[in-house]
Amino acid sequence: MNRNPVLPSLTLPTEPKALRSIDLLVSQTYTGQGFLALDALPRVALEAAVCAADDGFAWAVNTFFDGVAGGEPRLKMNLGLKGQMHLICQRCMQPCLVQIEESRQFVFLANEALADAFPMEDDALEPLVISSQFDLLGTIEDEILLSLPLIPKHSEGVCEPAALRSGVDDPLNHGETAKKPDNPFNILKNMKKKE
Ligand SMILES: [Zn+2]
Repeated sequence: MNRNPVLPSLTLPTEPKALRSIDLLVSQTYTGQGFLALDALPRVALEAAVCAADDGFAWAVNTFFDGVAGGEPRLKMNLGLKGQMHLICQRCMQPCLVQIEESRQFVFLANEALADAFPMEDDALEPLVISSQFDLLGTIEDEILLSLPLIPKHSEGVCEPAALRSGVDDPLNHGETAKKPDNPFNILKNMKKKE
């Protein structure tokens, strides 16, 4: 859906740190996609019950200029997210798999005051402040956190009371998703437990 075929599109980086600073003040558009494991998403990782091998989020982004009658074209961004992580089930207190698939559209405005004043009745379009160092990774984290259920639960009938699980060592009750001991994310979790 390229509405501005005249401008060549720049390719977004896939390296998580590089996604923290995207120059949106260039008069070009961006496209890109990648996959972020939980250890690249520190604020999301704080919510994780455990980190299974497949946990993480695929993202796809494209920006485009949208004409406004009688004004400057505005930069907009499509963000697609699809992925999974494990949260604590609020019924049985065991890890439960949460999958999300979201697509959002954003409009970039010149400053914070304009973004604050942006009419929010149109939920489909979220305002952001344009920047030469736009934090795309932070925006992806925000959208994942907004998409997670407030009260995560297993499907009805799937919960296992903790008392019946004594002697079961695998927190996921799922053999092939065992944690790797040298995963930096798990080391971080362990450090947090000792605090
Ligand atoms: Zn449960």
